[in-house]
Amino acid sequence: MKKGRILTGDRTTGKLHLGHYFGSLQNRVKLQYEYETFIILADVQALTTHFENPGMLSESLRNVAIDYLSVGIDPEISTIFVQSLIPEIAELTIYYSMFVSVNSLRHNPTIKTEAKERGYNDLTYGFLGYPVSQAADISFCKANLVPVGEDQVPHIEMCRKIVRRFNELYKPVLVEPQALVGEVPRLVGLDGKLKMSKSYGNAIYLSENYDDIMKKVREAVTDPNRIKKTDPGNPDICTVFSYQNIFNKTEKENIEELCRSGRIGCVECKRILAGKINELITPFREKRAYYEAHPKLVDEILIAGTNKVREVAKETMREVREAMKINYF
Ligand code: ATP
Ligand code: MG
Repeated sequence: MKKGRILTGDRTTGKLHLGHYFGSLQNRVKLQYEYETFIILADVQALTTHFENPGMLSESLRNVAIDYLSVGIDPEISTIFVQSLIPEIAELTIYYSMFVSVNSLRHNPTIKTEAKERGYNDLTYGFLGYPVSQAADISFCKANLVPVGEDQVPHIEMCRKIVRRFNELYKPVLVEPQALVGEVPRLVGLDGKLKMSKSYGNAIYLSENYDDIMKKVREAVTDPNRIKKTDPGNPDICTVFSYQNIFNKTEKENIEELCRSGRIGCVECKRILAGKINELITPFREKRAYYEAHPKLVDEILIAGTNKVREVAKETMREVREAMKINYF
């Protein structure tokens, strides 16, 4: 007997990176045997920022799906599906949008941060409203747990409010979800400022090889006051050290001491880190090679997953329409 249902997923805006892994993927892989797990390829949500280039979705969709399979999402156990092929999600979004206030969206801290970081002033209806659509993604399948990174917590809170409001207004048929934030709630990007993100060009991808990893780590921001190798470094303001904390738990204390006393240079510290990241990613790369050689199998997994989810969605919408007394005939 499973403990409940998980709904989680990613925008199909490119390949997945280390931030996804520590924020959410790791938990999904671990919990898929305890919870009935649905994973959404959020292609509609990708359009909120990529509407000018919908042609990229098709490749992205497959890349993200292969990322899931590579890190250990088991397609026999978990259900991976495509958001745009579940029209019930769009329908539910519309019903929610009748009672969600525009101010509550304007004040959503993640919307504010993302709009600023992306340089958006006059927000589109779709971008401002994507937390409503995300509430529909989560609630159409009555998920009770949502493994996510920290940036998503305000959206889960909003989803809980929407579900409560719906249940009060009409009939208690929907389920309030809980967020589950991963081991690293917000992995910083190579720039040392913004969150590691597909859109900010500051990410190390789960599909990268050692040379690419090394190249990126070499460019990562370190303590700017440290010029010579023998200068004492300050790990507290060094992005590379913040990664040692995550990827190299056994050596991090030693490295910290050596850095503070000017006995290890940034070049050596970066070489060690790249090796550790490569160690984590190597088994993913091996699995990836199998799925890349079998693209039809990947498509079949997505089609089967989407068909299964469609049935769940239809059943929830039947209950939603009944609760709202709009089941006319
Ligand atoms: P985009 O730039 O297209 O928005 P993204 O890199 O921000 O892409 P999303 O698809 O928006 O990725 O996020 C998917 C999931 O991964 C969310 O649960 C999010 O919280 C988590 N996540 C993304 N980036 C990070 C990060 N740097 N640290 C922790 N969790 C992250
Ligand atoms: Mg994002």
